[in-house]
Amino acid sequence: MTDGVTDGVTDGVTDGVGEAPDTAVPVVGWRVWRLGGDRTGPELVSPAVTAGWPARTAMTAACRRGCPSAPAWDCGCGLYATTTLDLLLPSFTDAGAVLGCVALWGRVVEADRGWRAEHAYPLLALAPRPDAVAQALERSLTEQALERYLSRGALRVQRVRLLARLRSSARPDADVVHALGTRYGVPAHLVGGALPSVPDAVVARRAEAVRDEAARGLAARRLGDAHARRRFDRAVEDLVAALGRRADPGSPISA
Ligand SMILES: [Zn+2]
Repeated sequence: MTDGVTDGVTDGVTDGVGEAPDTAVPVVGWRVWRLGGDRTGPELVSPAVTAGWPARTAMTAACRRGCPSAPAWDCGCGLYATTTLDLLLPSFTDAGAVLGCVALWGRVVEADRGWRAEHAYPLLALAPRPDAVAQALERSLTEQALERYLSRGALRVQRVRLLARLRSSARPDADVVHALGTRYGVPAHLVGGALPSVPDAVVARRAEAVRDEAARGLAARRLGDAHARRRFDRAVEDLVAALGRRADPGSPISA
C-alpha cells in the first residue's frame, strides 16, 4: 500500500529545511514493508523506494528532493508510520507484504494519521501466509464481482492476474519468518486464517495493546528484561490469534 505509508516525497512540495522537533523518546507506530532478501537472508524493504532496512542499526530517512535533514515540514520525506493498525489492514492481502511496529525517533513530524521520522527501527514483523493471502484475494474478488456485476470472463482474467502477482512475490514460510525475526532481533510471526481487510474491534484493541507494550517496555527489552519481553510476546500472540481467528470457526476467540 498506500497513502501515507510510503517513504519518499510527495509532489508539489518545495525544498526546505524543516524545523521538526527532536524526539529523544521513541514514538511507536505501525507500518508496511515488502519482504525482500539479500545474501544474508530475508530483509524488510521500504515499498516505495525499495530500500532495505539495516539490521541491528537504525534506518535513517533520506530525501530524494534534497532536503538536508529529512523529514522536513514542507516535504513528504521521512520514515512513515501510522497510529493504528486498522489503516494498514488492506495491506494484509498484498502478496509479499509485512506489517509491523516501528520505533521512531530523532526529528518526528506528525503526518496524515501518523508520523514521519528521521530514524526508525522495526519492533515486530507480521507476515501473512501465502495461502491466507490467496484466500483473502479470492474473497475480495468475489465481493467485487458481486458489487460491479463482473462477467465470468472478466472475473477469470482478474483471478489470473492476482495469481500471477502472488506467484511473483516473496512467499514467506516459517523458516523465512524466523530468519527475519533473528536478523532484526524482534518477534516475527506468520499470520494465517481469514485475514481481516477491514477494521475489526478485537484486532484494533489488541493492536493497541501491542503498540502500548512495544513503547512502554522498549528500554527494558533492550536491557534484556525477560518480563518485559514476555509481556510484549504475549500481547503479540494475542494479536496474531485475533488476526487469524476466523480460520477455525469451531473456536471463535472471545473479545
Ligand atoms: Zn524532503
